[in-house]
Amino acid sequence: SKPIVAIVGRPNVGKSTLFNALAGEKISIVKDYPGVTRDRIYADVTWLDKQFTMIDTGGIEPESKDLMLSHMRQQAEIAIETADVIMFLVDVRQGLVDSDFKVADMLRKSGKPVVLVVNKVDNFDKLMPDVYEFYNLGIGDPIPISANSKLGIGDMLDEVIKHF
Ligand code: GDP
Ligand code: MG
Repeated sequence: SKPIVAIVGRPNVGKSTLFNALAGEKISIVKDYPGVTRDRIYADVTWLDKQFTMIDTGGIEPESKDLMLSHMRQQAEIAIETADVIMFLVDVRQGLVDSDFKVADMLRKSGKPVVLVVNKVDNFDKLMPDVYEFYNLGIGDPIPISANSKLGIGDMLDEVIKHF
C-alpha cells in the first residue's frame, strides 16, 4: 500500500488549505474511533512518479488555548503511530510559539522523518528572514510555502517523497 503522510500543526496554520490544494477531488472523511476526536481526512496525492496517502490529523480543533496543547499532542501521537512521513506545518505570521517546540520535541524523539513546512510565506523575498527563525525547532530545514498562492508546493513535495 501507499506511504502515509500526516499533516500536523496548530489550528489556523493552514493545514486544511494545504490539504485541499494537494488533494484535488479525492477527499474522504473517516471517523473511526467513536466518541474520540480522531476524525481524520484522507486524500490520495500523486507527485512525479510517487503516490501517497495524505492525512489531515486536525479534525475538529479546540478554540481554547488550554485544550490546544493536548489536542496537538494527540495529533502528533496519531501521526507518529500511522505515518511514514510527518509534515509539521507552522505559520510564518504567528512565528514560533511554545507549543511548536513541544510538538517538535515529540516528533524528533519519534525518529520518524519530519518535513518542516512554513506556511503563509506569501512573499518569499520579504519573509525569508522570518522563515530562518524556524531552524530553532531543531528538526531540520524549514521549507517555505504559501498554501493560498500555491507557492513552494513543488519543492515541498520533492522533500516529502525523498523519504519514501
Ligand atoms: P487549519 O486550521 O490549520 O486547517 O487552517 P486553515 O486551512 O483552515 O487556514 C486558516 C486560515 O489561514 C484561513 O483563513 C486561510 O485562508 C489562511 N491561510 C491558509 N494558507 C494561507 C497562506 O498561504 N497565506 C495566507 N496569508 N493565509 C493562509
Ligand atoms: Mg483545518
